[in-house]
Amino acid sequence: MTKLIAVTSALYLLSASSIAIAETSKPTHDNLNSTLWYQTSAEFRANSIQTYRQAEFMLPTLLTDKKATALTNQTANYADLPPAIIVDIDETILDNSPSAAHEIKFNHGFDAKNWDRWVSLKQAKAVPGAVKFVNMAQQQGVKVLFISNRECKPRDQKSSCPQKDDTIANLKLVGIKQVDSNQVWLKSEQADWTSEKESRRILAANKFRVIMLMGDDFGDFLPNVKKNITPAQRLELVDKHEMYWGTRWFMLTNPTYGSWETILEQPKTKYLQSYE
Ligand SMILES: [Mg+2]
Repeated sequence: MTKLIAVTSALYLLSASSIAIAETSKPTHDNLNSTLWYQTSAEFRANSIQTYRQAEFMLPTLLTDKKATALTNQTANYADLPPAIIVDIDETILDNSPSAAHEIKFNHGFDAKNWDRWVSLKQAKAVPGAVKFVNMAQQQGVKVLFISNRECKPRDQKSSCPQKDDTIANLKLVGIKQVDSNQVWLKSEQADWTSEKESRRILAANKFRVIMLMGDDFGDFLPNVKKNITPAQRLELVDKHEMYWGTRWFMLTNPTYGSWETILEQPKTKYLQSYE
């Protein structure tokens, strides 16, 4: 196993053959390792492909079984509704790791201005496996709904949600063949579309039999899991829904950010489980 040494020091080139490393007290950006894992590892790529492949395997069964729904509260009169899949966008379909890399390289934290610039560039690549899966599902007559917490924020007078146009363009650029404004539901696009996605899932359930949920955050699957909850309570909820994982719910990996982290109180080290 490679031992990663946190070297944030300057490199001084003393001669062609000798490099001395001067250590400083500046800490390594705490997203360095997770971003490198996301951007360079075979392990991340394989895991992502594996998740989408599993979803592909489950699709015929879920389409045939008219009782199948991925929403725990979709309980009545849904069998004959047209089938749909709800996917999150960021770190589920689009890979925003260059935004994380920018934070590390220029030593800043997440901020709305940098994020909006990244969205406007439309340069996100696809999460491995995602495009093939979405195109295949839509080819089979499944509506794919993109429910995202990318936020609508006017940049000028021209549009109330330029982020929506950018996002649709980016999705097309990575190869999603069918995506229009009716399929992309962004945060703040309507008054009750908050970062809690449940209201949008309920809306989807009125029109569709929702057969799959795909996301990288627990909040893409259940309500009330993004604040005022402990890690232990979230783990219990994962176990309580064991039968959904890999059958109707598909979780992509995201070690760089998410509600898993924002629910932690300071100091985060108190959550470490070590040994004496
Ligand atoms: Mg996401």
